Amino acid sequence: MTSVVTVVIGTQFGDEGKGKIIDYLARDADFVVRFHGGAGAGHTVVNNFGTFKMHLIPCGIFNKNVKCVIANGVMVDPEILLQEIDSLKRAGIRTKGRLFVSSRAHVVLPYHKILDGIFDEAKGKLKTATTGRGNGPVHADKTSYYGILVQDLLDKKLFGAKLEKILNVKNKIIKEFGGKELSLPKILRDYSIFFSKLRPFIANTFEILNGASEKKKTILFEGAHGLYLDNDWGTYPYVTASSTLPANIGAGAGVSPSKIDSVVGIVKAYTTRIDSGAGPLPTEFFGKLADAIRGWGGEFGATTGRPRRIGWLDLIQLKLAVKLAGINYLTLTKVDVLSSLRTVPVCTNYKLGGRTVDYLDLNAEQLKKVVPIYKDLPGWAEIGDVRKYNDLPKELKNYVEMIEKFVGVPVKILSIGPERNQTIIRG
Ligand code: GDP
Repeated sequence: MTSVVTVVIGTQFGDEGKGKIIDYLARDADFVVRFHGGAGAGHTVVNNFGTFKMHLIPCGIFNKNVKCVIANGVMVDPEILLQEIDSLKRAGIRTKGRLFVSSRAHVVLPYHKILDGIFDEAKGKLKTATTGRGNGPVHADKTSYYGILVQDLLDKKLFGAKLEKILNVKNKIIKEFGGKELSLPKILRDYSIFFSKLRPFIANTFEILNGASEKKKTILFEGAHGLYLDNDWGTYPYVTASSTLPANIGAGAGVSPSKIDSVVGIVKAYTTRIDSGAGPLPTEFFGKLADAIRGWGGEFGATTGRPRRIGWLDLIQLKLAVKLAGINYLTLTKVDVLSSLRTVPVCTNYKLGGRTVDYLDLNAEQLKKVVPIYKDLPGWAEIGDVRKYNDLPKELKNYVEMIEKFVGVPVKILSIGPERNQTIIRG
């Protein structure tokens, strides 16, 4: 299912089941690469080794022949990365010689996490409820030349000098908002310990990836967030700090987007959004059915444990996602979660003030007010042991075919449960 360079991205608000599919597709891959995002993204993988919540290390790590790259576009939190390496080690998964971290990646420092909270709280009612992992402030520092790179930490003197200047400014802001100032010697000490442990993993990932591409090795790029959290095209400002588009492999990993052979979009059979109700979710619904779907689907955040909001499948957003990201085919996940519903609505139009409206013409506040127009499709029975597309309930095939017709690309993979073997490839 994987061509030489494949990019796998989420087409909704994240939590589409990317982790499971990347773990599955990684069977055929030589490299799996994270190219954007930070530890705020969490992918869940369930396989023979156990259940893992992966925040920074690509989900391909469970396939022993795969090498994993954390490329320069990723915001590296060294503490979380080391915890992840340790948890893999405890499960018997080797990372030395298989995991490479770009020396050009930006580093998350303690003030980023504190400022994440301060900036969001200061917005009052308009707060976007960030995961508090510091992603936004690291990106802001990157674009305003205040960032610290992994390579800076390799030179203790340079790191100390940079940190001293930057911390001076950050502490002033923290103090102004009533926070506790951070200690320079403590950060220097902690980060020097982290980096002595991470040193063996630091590499020139540009050479690794471009060398691999020249040798026609199979490379899978793992999107960290959903497309509607994209900084440009998502529901701004309720978005993430980076570009989630496949072309971002150029900036985020140094691999030209012209090398992409295929883009796989992951779409969940329904929609979820993880925030405290702040961002728009046009197809959101509430009540017993929403609670039941949340329970059946385990819709609680991998990073924060927060309950996810529940909505029906939004074909307006999916159709745009296909165009924006140049998706070649879709993978439909979690179809098992909806089995035994009598009808399954899908959104086929947006109305505002009685008129049909377009996602791109609306700001986030207007998007919160749109009235989704649904088409009700018949629900399907439990899928059980079925592993062949043709043997699936006809109502489910009807659902799949309706999606394909609406958005114009095929659904080639169906995920019918969290385990690797609960996957159906359409011949
Ligand atoms: P990601 O960030 O896109 O990888 O998604 P998350 O890890 O946040 O959430 C996906 C959750 O659904 C995880 O707990 C997966 O184990 C689980 N999952 C993935 N695919 C399926 C599926 O087809 N059916 C069911 N029931 N669970 C799935």
